[in-house]
This record gives sequence, structure tokens and C-alpha cells, in this order.
Amino acid sequence: MTPPLTGGCLCGAIRYTVSVPITEARACHCTSCQQASGAAGAVNAVLPSSALVITQGQPKRYASKADSGRTLYRYFCGDCGSPIYSQRETSPETSVLRVGTLDLPEGFRVTAHIWTKSARSWHHMEPDAKRFEGQP
Ligand SMILES: [Zn+2]
Ligand SMILES: [Zn+2]
Repeated sequence: MTPPLTGGCLCGAIRYTVSVPITEARACHCTSCQQASGAAGAVNAVLPSSALVITQGQPKRYASKADSGRTLYRYFCGDCGSPIYSQRETSPETSVLRVGTLDLPEGFRVTAHIWTKSARSWHHMEPDAKRFEGQP
């Protein structure tokens, strides 16, 4: 996909733009992402925070203790609950965007699976993607 990309939450209260191309995504199988998504985990693109601009609304922030032991800030829509992105407490210059919130979530490949040690048996993993048992 070529920038600028746009996306937002389910109810439309939160909208954002991304000013860099997204060519790769990674699937996170950690137990926090399973709970936060209510599904098998999350599929994310790692971006410089400067490339992600919230153009409408104000996401709520939840400080979550990640499986790595670090604090992860999870940003989501307080109205509809859509997870939008996350940032590590120690590296706010990097944002991890939930690619399913893009208006057109295509044009990239899942190239890595992380926290595979807690992956559920019913979640497909691309055979040619890299796999990491924990945080790479
Ligand atoms: Zn919403
Ligand atoms: Zn995770």
C-alpha cells in the first residue's frame, strides 16, 4: 500500500492517517493480545510514531503488563472498544498499529509471528513467516 493510508475504529469516532508505506505485518500471539482482541491475537505493523497521526477523536489508553514484563500502553476507542495501536512505555517513538483498523487492510504480508509459545492451535501461521517463541 502506498501512503497516505487511512483508518479508524468501528464506530468512526477515531480516525488516523499513516504517512509511510506498510509492506510487512507481524502477528502477535501473546495472551494479552488474545484477551484484548477477544480472538487469536493481533496483527500489527510497526511504525515510527511520527508517521501515525490521529486526525479525529482521542483514543483511551490502558497500561497493560506485557508477557515480556514490560508496560505496554494499549490505545483503543472508548466508545466502541476497537484496539487501534500500542506503544511500549520505554519506546514511545515506535507505534504498533492494528492493521485490521486500516480502511483497506491489504498490500502487506505477515512476515513474522511472535509469542508463538502461547499461540492457539486454531490460529493459522504462514509457513514461510519467521517465528519467535517470545519477543524478537
Ligand atoms: Zn469507536
Ligand atoms: Zn501481543
